[in-house]
Amino acid sequence: MGRTITRRDFLNGVALTVGAAMVPGHAFAFEAQSHDSSGYYPPALTGLRGSHVGAFETAHKLRDGSFWNEAGKPTDTGESYDLVVVGGGISGLSAAHFFRKAAGPKAKILILDNHDDFGGHAKRNEFQIEGKFRLGYGGTFSIESPRPYSAVAKGVVEELGIDVPSYSKYVDKDLYRSQGLVPNIFFDKETFGADKLLANPLRGGLTDTGDKPRSENLMWRRFMAEAPLSYQAKKDLERLFSEKKDYFPDLTSDKKKARLARISYAKFLTEVIGVSEEIVKIYQAMPDPLFGLGIDAVAAQDAWGFDLPGFAGMNLDPTPGKGMNYDAIPNAEAEKYFFHFPDGNASIARMLVRKLVPDAISGSSATDIVNAHADYAKLDQASSPVRIRLNSTVVQVKHKGDPTTAKELEVSYACGDKVFNVRAANCILACWHVVIPYICDELPDKQKDALASAAKVPLLYTNVAIRNWTSFQKLGVSSVYAPGSYHTQWSLDIPVSIGDYQCARKPDEPIIVHMMKTPNKPGLPARDQHRIGRQELFMTSFETMERNIRDQLARALSAGGFDPARDIAAVTVNRWPHGYAYEYSSLWDKFWLEGGELPCEVARKPFGRLAIANADAGAYAYTDCAIDQAWRAVGELRKPAS
Ligand SMILES: Cc1cc2nc3c(=O)[nH]c(=O)nc-3n(C[C@H](O)[C@H](O)[C@H](O)COP(=O)(O)OP(=O)(O)OC[C@H]3O[C@@H](n4cnc5c(N)ncnc54)[C@H](O)[C@@H]3O)c2cc1C
Repeated sequence: MGRTITRRDFLNGVALTVGAAMVPGHAFAFEAQSHDSSGYYPPALTGLRGSHVGAFETAHKLRDGSFWNEAGKPTDTGESYDLVVVGGGISGLSAAHFFRKAAGPKAKILILDNHDDFGGHAKRNEFQIEGKFRLGYGGTFSIESPRPYSAVAKGVVEELGIDVPSYSKYVDKDLYRSQGLVPNIFFDKETFGADKLLANPLRGGLTDTGDKPRSENLMWRRFMAEAPLSYQAKKDLERLFSEKKDYFPDLTSDKKKARLARISYAKFLTEVIGVSEEIVKIYQAMPDPLFGLGIDAVAAQDAWGFDLPGFAGMNLDPTPGKGMNYDAIPNAEAEKYFFHFPDGNASIARMLVRKLVPDAISGSSATDIVNAHADYAKLDQASSPVRIRLNSTVVQVKHKGDPTTAKELEVSYACGDKVFNVRAANCILACWHVVIPYICDELPDKQKDALASAAKVPLLYTNVAIRNWTSFQKLGVSSVYAPGSYHTQWSLDIPVSIGDYQCARKPDEPIIVHMMKTPNKPGLPARDQHRIGRQELFMTSFETMERNIRDQLARALSAGGFDPARDIAAVTVNRWPHGYAYEYSSLWDKFWLEGGELPCEVARKPFGRLAIANADAGAYAYTDCAIDQAWRAVGELRKPAS
């Protein structure tokens, strides 16, 4: 914990975060509600959030072809805008911000989003636990990116007043380690034959041994003595870390990388290095937090980039190989640019909203935003040039006349069981690309196919509010990597105190434990894994998720006195069947190795008075991409292709 912790670090078990005696049956089902009704305050809702009940049904009916059969005739609102933005995530909010800067403060802008809250994946979860206010991130975790932020994205961050380089002062980096808490690994009996929690020495490609030989390292020795692994697996682990062998001695570095780009890390371990399947089970879930995929579907070349073991004797030139995933390419400048707000990048979304609709959120600084009150009734007021309309799924976007010459578009959206029309001089689709072919029939088929190929990566981001973390302290646990469990990574919240917000510092204080699951299906091609995982998330009840959470926390922590019935105060599961933007891989996307126009480049082409944003437009699941793509889209509007 002596340095910043990036999403990449989840791989190394250094990750962080998560909540009351939520008895089964307390699952919250959000009912469609107008956001000016009193008491409307989505961040405080618990239970099933993310893609919550009420957010996705309309879009699924569009997909299934049943929507227009059931929908009534649209009502014309009579409203007319300079810009309508579809999607109120960071890309849509940034697009509105850029457009307003270019067109002036009087420009009339409407932002439509199907969720009950703004921010898209940048989701804020609030908890009151025994009189203490705690924040969690329901999606976008932090300001970070494997590649350095562009001048545009950095410009927005700075304009919002976030001084990333100095903000490490708000993080109590040594809090857990100073109390003897370290990353652990949990072996579950279903996968490994016995339940066992142990300090985790398998960090990245190195064991945590400093300068000493592993045999002298207490953590390593205890791990080797007590891990429920076979004698052969333990010998394999020793070899994996000590052997410095070149497995492709006859190839140049470039040719080795080309081969590693075409083989999964799991196969590299078993077929090239020759370790047992048990080793695959241990490492299987390590890349989950970045790709929503295990090592069966991640290229060995990318594993090398992440410092996973097995490459010490390969003499690979350190320059990135062709087809490496951006996440796998270490970049010192990018790693330094990191900050985690207690609600993740929901703080960025809230600051953008405050710029666009100043009446809706109080305060003025990047530190007061954390506790600032949001008045949802002010988001959509006729007196404001910028309006944000929630619970509104856009169902059709159509030029009025020939797209090459039309002067305006008609945008239809469904709210509850009604459909409404507004008119717009311009429209930016900052929504998920897979939705666009269903709402925008005018686009060329080739573009629709490219948009449809951007199916996202499914994930669960779970926040568990617990009354105290004494069990973590007794067991010396700051985070857990659990390769065989329901959530494969979980951790105590990152200790950040900023503005008036104070994090938990003492083990007897309430805290959030953050848990992460990716519902992948090892052995299948990446996109199939995501498709099946997406269905699983939609079909699993909150009760089942909650039972799994209680079970896995109890099994790992009961030796420290943890009792889920007593210690859990609330659970919020952020379900993201459409989560990370799909990032291309040398294993699954031939074009990524061979070159040529990328699907995201075809997908994002402007059309008439329409431009296309969202992180999908860059095939890169990071906030900077969402901002960069908004910038590009707004630029295209000002000089439309038509
Ligand atoms: C769980 C999770 C964790 C992440 N962590 C990080 C991180 O730590 N750092 C980072 O930089 N990035 C992270 N990301 C990536 C994140 O996606 C981007 O950072 C960014 O927030 C994406 O913004 P966006 O506006 O492009 O998309 P989104 O946030 O998805 O917003 C698009 C919005 O459009 C809405 N929409 C879709 N269809 C319609 C329709 N028909 N009508 C109206 N609205 C519609 C969607 O529901 C959504 O609200 C994470 C993503 C996820 C899912």
